[in-house]
Parts: sequence; structure tokens; C-alpha cells
Amino acid sequence: MSAQQTQDIAIVGAGVIGLTTAWILCDFGLGPRIKVIAKHTPEDRSVDYTSPWAGANFCSISSGDEKALRWDRITYNRLAYLANTRKESGVVFADLRELWDYDPNLEKIRSWSSYVKDFKTIPKEELPENCLYGHTGTTFLINVPQYLNFIHSILNDSGVTFVKEEIKHINDVLQFVPNPTVVFNCPGVWASTLGGVEDPDVYPTRGHVVCVDAPHIKETRIRNGTNSDTYIIPRPFNGGVVLGGFMQKGNWDREIHPEDTQDILKRTAALMPELFQHQGPEAAKIIYEAVGFRPSRNGGARVELDTLPGTKFPLIHDYGASGTGYQAGYGMAFDSVMLSLPLIKFA
Ligand SMILES: Cc1cc2nc3c(=O)[nH]c(=O)nc-3n(C[C@H](O)[C@H](O)[C@H](O)COP(=O)(O)OP(=O)(O)OC[C@H]3O[C@@H](n4cnc5c(N)ncnc54)[C@H](O)[C@@H]3O)c2cc1C
Repeated sequence: MSAQQTQDIAIVGAGVIGLTTAWILCDFGLGPRIKVIAKHTPEDRSVDYTSPWAGANFCSISSGDEKALRWDRITYNRLAYLANTRKESGVVFADLRELWDYDPNLEKIRSWSSYVKDFKTIPKEELPENCLYGHTGTTFLINVPQYLNFIHSILNDSGVTFVKEEIKHINDVLQFVPNPTVVFNCPGVWASTLGGVEDPDVYPTRGHVVCVDAPHIKETRIRNGTNSDTYIIPRPFNGGVVLGGFMQKGNWDREIHPEDTQDILKRTAALMPELFQHQGPEAAKIIYEAVGFRPSRNGGARVELDTLPGTKFPLIHDYGASGTGYQAGYGMAFDSVMLSLPLIKFA
């Protein structure tokens, strides 16, 4: 049998969601049956490929609905396992300090306090001016390029193959996997335009990050403001410190604007004066800057089995992670794989 004949599982997309889906399938020994079809893979950097631009940390950015909270909890446990046992994954435990200028979602805080290690509410008298709530806890920092390469190399070692192509319509997967048992659809924000899917609820939440050299910073700090969100995310293993940012809904602007850079540097210097050794934003040593589009979706991420009219294969959607692809992605991928298992014949 040729390799093509044995491959009956297709995955569209090689962002953190598609890669994690393939990784879980490999745990069932399915690697040689998987073909990933993706325009971008972990060595690429493009404004159209969101995953490399994430900070990434684990914070309270998720929505407060039951599914999102469950995906966070599952992924927290997985990231803890990686931080404890697989240093090469790029995942480490780290102190988180998160502040709000408005009342946070109580469901989320309740859920978090039940499993986040060392979770503590910050006493009111210790909060900065105009801040209504804050908490600390032990979560994670992820060196994102390292994490993506780590999964990519596990997939290569497990027999997964990659086709670097853009498809126009979901049915185009048949050119690469002629008789799929199942197709996973993980195209990120491009679920809005991919033919046959064209989900009108998907939209970009634009971000802009400034990565600086500041190896003395080890803590991740976030201020959820009424008009802006400011975050400082040190990437472990000398990956720089990622500063942000913006959460601009429906904004497809691909350009970096110098006034936005200055705004990010000013806000992060105020949030953590030691960031630039108390010398202010002028002292920032910028390594790179980037714009990225978080794949957001009205109603939350979509993880479900679908049968499209005219499509001859079971299709499992897994997209719409918005700002949580790293902190919730394992939970999302886990659910999508669980949907597929009854369809797959194990020899
Ligand atoms: C500034 C910023 C900061 C962030 N910080 C964090 C954080 O701290 N923590 C966190 O958890 N998350 C964070 N995120 C969110 C996280 O990056 C996303 O949730 C995640 O990357 C989404 O992954 P994805 O696999 O769905 O999409 P993507 O990474 O965009 O991958 C999509 C894949 O599908 C492929 N594709 C799409 N269309 C087609 C097609 N037609 N044909 C072939 N291939 C196609 C692409 O080439 C790519 O391989 C951040 C995002 C941004 C922008």
C-alpha cells in the first residue's frame, strides 16, 4: 500500500490548534494515518498565521461560559504535566499577577480559584489606584516558537506528513487524502473565508506585540483596563519579553503603527517600572514587533461534528480560540479528538 492509501485522517491547519489535535491523535498510534494540510507551518512568520505571535501565558482572558472554563482547566493540567516533565516543550511554571479596573467575571474567578496553584485575591489596600480587583497565582509561561517546534518534531517522529498548500474549499482536502475517515478543520481566523465553511461569526481581534530584551523580568503581569489591556509576558529560555497590547475587534489592519508601539511601551513601563530598569520607555531594547489576528467567534470557539451539504466526509471543526489557543487549546483539541474516536477503526 502506498503512504497515500493508508492516510485517512486529514487536518487543515498547523497552528497550535491543528498541531495539538494531531499530537493527541498520535497518542492513539494514529500518526502514520494523518496528513496535515496547511499554508503555514511552525517555521513561518506571517500576519496571516496567528500562533507564533502569542505571548504566551495562562491568564483570565477566557470567556466565563462552562465550555471555555472546562477547556482552560483541562489545559492547565496538561501544561503542568509538561512543565514538570518536559522542559524541552518550552513550558514553565510562573507567577502571575492580574489586575482589573472593572468587576471581573465571577464564574471565571470561582473556577480558577478551584484549581490554579497558589491562587490568592490581592487585598484591596494593596491594589494600585483605580483598580477594583486583582489576584495572583502560579500559571505558565510558554516560549511559543519552542512549543510549536516541540510538537512539530513529535508529529514528524510519529509519522505524520505535512502538505504545504492553501486550499480554497474544504472539499479540496480530497486532493491530498482521497478517502478520509475524518477531516479536522483548524484554520483559525480563516474559517471566515474558507469555502464550504465561511463562518460569519468568526472575526479577528487584532493584537500588536513588542518583544523587548529584558532578561531580568520573570513575572507575568496584566492590567485589564476599561479602554485598554496591558500585558507583560516574559518568554522563558531567553525568548525576550512580549509586551502588549491591543484587543481590536473586527480590525484587519496588517500594519504596525509607531504611535501604537509608543503607547504599549508607555503602558507597560507604568505597569512594571522595573521593566526598563526605571528609565522609562526610551530605554526599551526592541527585538521585533508584530501584528496578529486572534481568531474570535461570536458564541465562543466551535468544536463540533458537522456534515456539510455536498461534503462526503465527517468534518470536525476546531477553531475560534480567540486569545486562548495556548491556555485552552489542549482542552479544545481533546474534545475534537473525542468526537472522532467512534468514527475511526483501530486495527
Ligand atoms: C498578540 C497576541 C497575543 C496572544 N497571546 C496569547 C496568550 O498569551 N495565551 C494564549 O493562550 N493565546 C494567546 N493568543 C491567541 C493564540 O495565538 C491563538 O488562539 C492561536 O494561535 C490560534 O491558533 P489556530 O491554530 O486556531 O490559528 P493559526 O495559528 O492562525 O493557524 C491556522 C492554520 O491554518 C492554516 N490555514 C488557514 N486557512 C487555510 C487554508 N485555506 N488552506 C490551508 N491552510 C490554511 C494556516 O496556514 C495555519 O497553519 C494571542 C494572540 C495574539 C495575536
